[in-house]
Amino acid sequence: MKPKIRLYVQHPLGEGQPVELDRDQAHYLFGVMRLTAGAEVALFNGVDGEWRATVETAGKKAGILVCAEQTAPLRVPPDLWLLFAPIKKARTDFIVEKAAEMGARRIMPVQTEFTNSERIRQDRLQAHAVEAAEQCGGTFVPEVTDLQRLDRLLADWAPARRLMFCDEARVGQAVTLAEAAPGPWAILIGPEGGFSDAERDRLHTLDYTFSVSLGPRILRADTAAVAALTLWQNALGDWT
Ligand code: SAH
Repeated sequence: MKPKIRLYVQHPLGEGQPVELDRDQAHYLFGVMRLTAGAEVALFNGVDGEWRATVETAGKKAGILVCAEQTAPLRVPPDLWLLFAPIKKARTDFIVEKAAEMGARRIMPVQTEFTNSERIRQDRLQAHAVEAAEQCGGTFVPEVTDLQRLDRLLADWAPARRLMFCDEARVGQAVTLAEAAPGPWAILIGPEGGFSDAERDRLHTLDYTFSVSLGPRILRADTAAVAALTLWQNALGDWT
């Protein structure tokens, strides 16, 4: 039977490998979930796949698990980044969680002209990505980068990576990724205020930009992120 609890650890995993738990993990497994010695847990570290591990020692603030066997190989999502302008806290958390579930390889908050928040808690957002991977059976955790300015990011862009620019000015036009070629991609979602004219003009001049509509309605940024990830995964990703 598959262990019910999946835990992300920053520790190498392999046959017979002991894994020391930190305080929070020990509290969760032994304090909250009430596991005792001999119980089984699924572990992954984003690199070595998923392992079935057994509790060897269970304490209040510490504990040791020992890896038995690999139960799933590492599955790395397609080379897709999600660039999005952070919005209100709960909606930003939602975007990170959904992007991790939907199989983005990298999650990048970007500051655009109309972005309200000037700071994000990168560590908190990364923790959301870890939790999402634990819940959805993932063996990979996307990196959440710190907030970067969109103009600077575009100045250093490697043009081999195409940019799916979700442009609200295209609302109502046909939604299509049919002519898009596979390879490295990034999705770009704007803030509540949308993109400025200057940003839109610049984005349209870039050779690697592929501007798309997300249908006949203006979506909120968090909905737009999920919709764009769905379209991309269906057309070019690992859903087929
Ligand atoms: N305030 C803006 C809308 C912003 S919606 C306006 O009224 O025009 C937030 C982001 O979601 C947009 O910047 C865009 O990236 C994306 N988005 C929402 N609906 C979209 C649509 N129908 N087509 C393309 N992108 C869309």
